[in-house]
Amino acid sequence: MRLLISQALDTSIIDHIQQQSPALEFDVWEGPGAMSREELYQRIGAVDFMLSTLRDRIDQAFLAHAAKLKVVANIAVGYDNFDLAAMSCHQVLATNTPDVLTDATADVTMGLMINAMRGLSRAEAAMRQGQWQGWSPTGFLGSDLSGKTLGIIGLGRIGSAVARRARAFGMEVVALARPGHTRAGEVPQVPQTQLLEVSDVVSFHVPATPETFHWCDRQFLSQMKKGSYLINTARGTVVDSQALVEALRSGHLAGAGLDVFETEPLPLDHPFWELPTLVMTPHIGSAAVQTRRRMALRAWDNIRQYLTGQLPEDTLNPEIWPQLSK
Ligand code: NAP
Repeated sequence: MRLLISQALDTSIIDHIQQQSPALEFDVWEGPGAMSREELYQRIGAVDFMLSTLRDRIDQAFLAHAAKLKVVANIAVGYDNFDLAAMSCHQVLATNTPDVLTDATADVTMGLMINAMRGLSRAEAAMRQGQWQGWSPTGFLGSDLSGKTLGIIGLGRIGSAVARRARAFGMEVVALARPGHTRAGEVPQVPQTQLLEVSDVVSFHVPATPETFHWCDRQFLSQMKKGSYLINTARGTVVDSQALVEALRSGHLAGAGLDVFETEPLPLDHPFWELPTLVMTPHIGSAAVQTRRRMALRAWDNIRQYLTGQLPEDTLNPEIWPQLSK
């Protein structure tokens, strides 16, 4: 049995896998960068299991090269890089890594919110450029978080963790009511028009799907309060970048914080670079040493469970299991 690891992991994780499954052969991509599609196609034919990342597109064209493949374990909770229908059709199990990155991503969401509202990056840049003239009652003014209202779109694991944090900062929190999906709990769930009317900050925590594509478009942004803030740590496709550029340029939004982008890495000629009220991080929601380790181990655990004859805990297409386990 052969395991492909499509991006280099900490060697201690590979040692751990080796100890747990000594008979497994390894094919580890050492870079530089991510594996090209051609490289992937050349190697995948000999592979039974794959530890993938969101940069690997697991689609029909890929699967056509993957005759022996049994499990693709994404080292991510999002799985918009998977064509689940095609994977099921090819009898390949798909898994992800929920829960283990919830806190880390919620932390980065709060970091972006504080940064966008209080202007930390702008103030630091000015200080480094020698523009700090000393304390001033009107210097580097931002907005308080406490007393403001946060509207959460996608009250799942990360959305709920952000809600808990925002409350600890003294914010009111509302979330979008999803018809037929009401969640028990303390966060009031309201229709979108009401959420946009009351929210000083709107934060997205939905997966990238055809339904969530450009959810935050021109009309959505125009319905946000004047002087409010947008935060997106979900996926870049959820926000129409051009519409956001216009909302920030016009001053309708006071600021925004983004960790994810429609094109990653962000092209060097993108208008986002020119917007002083936009704070950006390079898709680092889960980028903490301990979290990344937990993600890799959880992804491996899914493969290990398959090797011991169990349905992996985080299987995304369990409907193919009865056929596979025969
Ligand atoms: P989750 O627990 O599944 O939460 C997703 C939420 O979105 C759920 O409340 C879900 O509602 C809602 N939702 C899904 N589709 C919707 C739709 N069409 N309309 C309205 N609501 C919808 O997932 P999670 O663990 O919180 O992760 C959320 C996303 O964050 C991931 O998919 C990933 O893309 C992103 N993420 C980014 C980073 C980063 O590095 N920036 C790190 C981790 C995750 P129901 O519960 O009713 O289905």
